[in-house]
Amino acid sequence: MTNIESRHSNILDHPYSSGPEPFKIKMVESIQLINREEREAALKRAGLNLFNLPSDHVFIDLLTDSGTGAMSDEQWSSMMKGDESYAGSPSFFRLQSAIQDIMGFPFILPTHQGRAAENVLHSTMIKEGDVIPGNSHFDTTKAHIELRHAKAVDCTIDECFDPVLDYPFKGNVDIDKLKKVVGETDNSKIPFVLITVTNNSGGGQPVSLANIREVSEFCKSEGLQLFIDAARFAENAWFIKHREVGQENRDIREIIREVFSYADGATMSAKKDAIVNMGGFIALRDEKLYEDCSSYSILFEGYLTYGGMTGRDVEALATGLYEGTEEDYLTSRIGRVRAFGDALHEAGVPTIRPPGGHAIYVDAKRFLPHIDQEQFPAQALTCELYLEAGVRGVEIGTVLNDRDPETGKNRPPALELMRLAIPRRVYTDNHLAYVKDAIVRLYERRDSIKGLRFSYEPGVLRHFRARFEWVE
Ligand SMILES: *Cc1c(COP(=O)(O)O)cnc(C)c1O
Repeated sequence: MTNIESRHSNILDHPYSSGPEPFKIKMVESIQLINREEREAALKRAGLNLFNLPSDHVFIDLLTDSGTGAMSDEQWSSMMKGDESYAGSPSFFRLQSAIQDIMGFPFILPTHQGRAAENVLHSTMIKEGDVIPGNSHFDTTKAHIELRHAKAVDCTIDECFDPVLDYPFKGNVDIDKLKKVVGETDNSKIPFVLITVTNNSGGGQPVSLANIREVSEFCKSEGLQLFIDAARFAENAWFIKHREVGQENRDIREIIREVFSYADGATMSAKKDAIVNMGGFIALRDEKLYEDCSSYSILFEGYLTYGGMTGRDVEALATGLYEGTEEDYLTSRIGRVRAFGDALHEAGVPTIRPPGGHAIYVDAKRFLPHIDQEQFPAQALTCELYLEAGVRGVEIGTVLNDRDPETGKNRPPALELMRLAIPRRVYTDNHLAYVKDAIVRLYERRDSIKGLRFSYEPGVLRHFRARFEWVE
């Protein structure tokens, strides 16, 4: 068998449909579509950068799924029970017990969001010259690694970088690449191996249980620690259940427990699968490491039992961990994202296949082949989608990738994408059908879309603050 065939041998071809949402709506928030002229003026004021738009000028906001979910009635009632004691709050103990119950880790440190968890863990574990192999590290993770003059090495399987290949676990770690990196590096320079589930930078693509187990066995044989960047651990577990042979009859929570049983710890951005607007934590197995992290936690985040969060936020997070790991909810969410992606695909719009768990990625290189990557086709497409329909997506392409610090040249990435991230429990199929129709209209008149150039380019993190003008 070739590598690809053997990777395919554990695939379950399990059809799934979204069905109705397993909730009804108790409170609504008005949104309004300003007219085309007003959108043109707003986008011009924003310098053709959608980060600069006031969000009340956006009709449907698909900028991110981070912290944008709708909390449930249970979560709002939890907030009333939040205890604001500086030390020893019962809300902390409730969170600790939820994390023990769902993930199986005995030690936890709350933090104000995911990158704060990274900051604390990396301050404790990473030294200059270290190497952290993984599957497409998330931007903040990579930035925190590089801040400490260490290196993040991407060992994702090659299938991930083929936008049309319909492969079920495109987020997997390539064991051969991992073995090569470890073989070339002194093990004392590898503080941990990191698996991100789902693989956000790789398109929200899942990692299989077999792959996590194999990476864990390899790490154990080398005496290396394995950590999980757990932002979308529940969506990943749902994909394991529905795509991996032998997993189809298991409970989602059982799969989650098994996934984390292979790891020494995890960092979590609770703004994703725990469906809160702000929050995060570190979960650990080893008491000594917990002690070591505690000092940084107190320094950066606050006392150990609140870590940058209010008691009410801690309480809502504990409740959200249970809700975010319910199968009916996950089936509805992931099925909805999939149906949106399939509708675009069937209309001929080029997207990354198969759809990931939290977002649909439109392939701007194939959508706008007449625009050179130096004229930012994905940024141009996000501007056009806003003008067309008041919808906000985000560029994941040449602008985001910055310039090469050595040559000063743009670094056009292999994939030039417009990401449409779907907030949890916020938009209905009608909203997504409206977005789809707008993209199909753009696709029909794609030849009329022009490229962009900078009118202002800041030195660092230009994605957030750059301004553009159309190239005539
Ligand atoms: C969002 C995210 C983070 C960072 O979390 P924040 O809460 O935004 O600080 C880290 N890793 C992954 C995979 C993420 O999606």
